[in-house]
Amino acid sequence: MQKTIFVVIYKNFLVYDSSAMIIKMHHRYFSYTKVFITTLALTVATLAVYTYERGISSYVFIPEFSEEVIATSSQSIAQSALPPAVLQASVCDAKTIFSDESDRRWCSALPLADQMRLFQIDLTHEKILFFQHGILQKIFPLAYQAPYGKWFQTPTGFFEVGVKREKFMSSIFPVWMEHAVQIYEDFFIHGIPYHTDGTKVTSQFSGGCIRLEDPVAADFYDTAQKGDMIVSYLSLADAQIKNNMISPVDTNSFWIRQRFNSPLKTDWSWHEDKQYNYIQHTGVDFAPYENAKDISVRAIASGTVELVVYNGIDDGGLGNAIIISHNIEGKKLYALYGHMASMELLKKGDTVDAGEKMGVVGNTGYGCNYWHVGTDGCDAMGDPDIHLHFEIKDKPILASPIPDTCILPSGKKTQCIGYTSHNPTDFGYRDPLLILFSSGVLPASAQTSIE
Ligand SMILES: [Zn+2]
Repeated sequence: MQKTIFVVIYKNFLVYDSSAMIIKMHHRYFSYTKVFITTLALTVATLAVYTYERGISSYVFIPEFSEEVIATSSQSIAQSALPPAVLQASVCDAKTIFSDESDRRWCSALPLADQMRLFQIDLTHEKILFFQHGILQKIFPLAYQAPYGKWFQTPTGFFEVGVKREKFMSSIFPVWMEHAVQIYEDFFIHGIPYHTDGTKVTSQFSGGCIRLEDPVAADFYDTAQKGDMIVSYLSLADAQIKNNMISPVDTNSFWIRQRFNSPLKTDWSWHEDKQYNYIQHTGVDFAPYENAKDISVRAIASGTVELVVYNGIDDGGLGNAIIISHNIEGKKLYALYGHMASMELLKKGDTVDAGEKMGVVGNTGYGCNYWHVGTDGCDAMGDPDIHLHFEIKDKPILASPIPDTCILPSGKKTQCIGYTSHNPTDFGYRDPLLILFSSGVLPASAQTSIE
């Protein structure tokens, strides 16, 4: 297995591991000092750590380069590191069970995580795909899910099967739920609830849980095992982009790992939100498929560069990020493109064309003070963390347009970045999915609840 490090001693240096497709731009170390000797010492020290941790065997030292070369080289590295496309390969075999013939389309969809047992909840198509060792075993149709856009909507992200309960009474209403499987905190997958007299609940209102028709719920209950991995997500497979818009990422190469307003349980103490202790995602996280062909980040419309931030102590956890002002539906709105591996040479005041490439998707930023994203807690450097955090909001700033008073565990008040303590629409954020796509992304059953 060949591994190589590229080092650029200039304003940035790149650490690159070709087998793991990890691309990092470290600007952080250079923010502390401008003294060359110190930066060189830090570079060597950091390299030593990376070399040791990753078993890297060869290096390429590039003494000095322009930022343009940095951007170009990291981009070509990123492209060449991608594994060959395997979309044509089938994930089904003779034992795959189809309750619906049209479900065969999922045979060409790669599993979103490499796990022995994996449940993928596709909230767009309202199906739960069950994989074992990368082979699709069975597909469970959803009956219905929570209304779209509410703070208690079904969360997206990586979870694990928690407790299983054959029958229990709801904590909110006096109704029975059967075959309940816990996804996350108060969010369950279960059968259709019924009243104490045995009559079914007719309301399709769900407080975030996913409901399955009873035989499906029983089957799902028997199949799920505590600790099985769950990925809850929206799909871009049938995404229809609006006429005057460009998707910020290639819809054939990406899926939506976290949607706008997705509730996220946190242990932090948040202003006015102590009762539930949930925070809400201010953007959409687009994650590339393992075999993604195009991981470019593109301008959704023509616009003007308002802010360029490099991965470092002032990045607010967003890493390499760009904010562009766009004229959207007659209004001036600001789109933030965050966590990029590398960026094109752009500065404040530059204009960009619709669809212009501005960088490459990555995993720069994070830091435990701000983020709890991905499957690996604070160590946000693994492949699962590569994504574009994309926001649309009222002001060209990293933080929430309306100052929030998020309180860190230390008691220190801080500005909310990437999350708000309540619905992000209250803080000057717009739902990017509603602005970008005309259909094919939001679940059919949720469309009616958007007004
Ligand atoms: Zn995000």
